[in-house]
Amino acid sequence: MTADRLPVLEVDLGPGVRAGFTTRAGGVSPSPWDSLNLGLGVHDDAARVRANRRRASTWLGRPALFSTQVHGTGVVVLDRDLAGPDGVDVPADSVGDADALVATGAADVGLGVLVADCVPVLLADAAAGVVATAHAGRRGLAEGVVPAVLGAMAAAGADLRRVRAAVGPAVCGSCYEVPATMRDEVAVARPATWSTTSWGTAALDLPAGVGADLEAAGVASVERTGVCTVEDDRWFSHRRATRAGATTGRFAGLVALVSA
Ligand SMILES: [Zn+2]
Repeated sequence: MTADRLPVLEVDLGPGVRAGFTTRAGGVSPSPWDSLNLGLGVHDDAARVRANRRRASTWLGRPALFSTQVHGTGVVVLDRDLAGPDGVDVPADSVGDADALVATGAADVGLGVLVADCVPVLLADAAAGVVATAHAGRRGLAEGVVPAVLGAMAAAGADLRRVRAAVGPAVCGSCYEVPATMRDEVAVARPATWSTTSWGTAALDLPAGVGADLEAAGVASVERTGVCTVEDDRWFSHRRATRAGATTGRFAGLVALVSA
């Protein structure tokens, strides 16, 4: 399989923007990371992960940069020319601790967000030449990672009414069981997350919480993939793996300006 034929769930965030969500397929890692594991923090061999990331970058058309995700609301903004003598002049494995990334056309790089049940969010204002990613897990979502990344996009020149967003594969509100007290705590900050599992217990709907945050900020165009990672084994799922007593890999949401 050639890298440019990588199976990716592509989304349309506007003219000149390439964006999509990778699947488990198309990489070099063996079980339990089979096969396109893009995460360095899950005990897979780093050389294999870097090889997988190169395949992702080839699909994206720009070098995909990742952060070290810490379940917070920090944003790294890449808004200057990052090209060094040997290509992109930034740390190859991580641009720093952050759960959201923003890039302008000046940086000429791609962005990636790593997940396996948490919500990957891709954003773009094609006209302004601003793209972004956010990693929205329970904690980051409750603390406001979505408004944080939208604020950083606006500061970089994006118009939120023009921003297009994609909410990627994640554990759904019928599968993400949590203690009732946790459901109530998160719902205080993000009421749209309040949910019930398909078997009738307390749950959180993180994709719904992301969607509500986007709409509240004025983002009118929101594409929801509607894929549940626990139910659909084409994607990595931390919860499904943990139930089976196994570890697993990470897939990515990827976005880049490709005709800047
Ligand atoms: Zn589900």
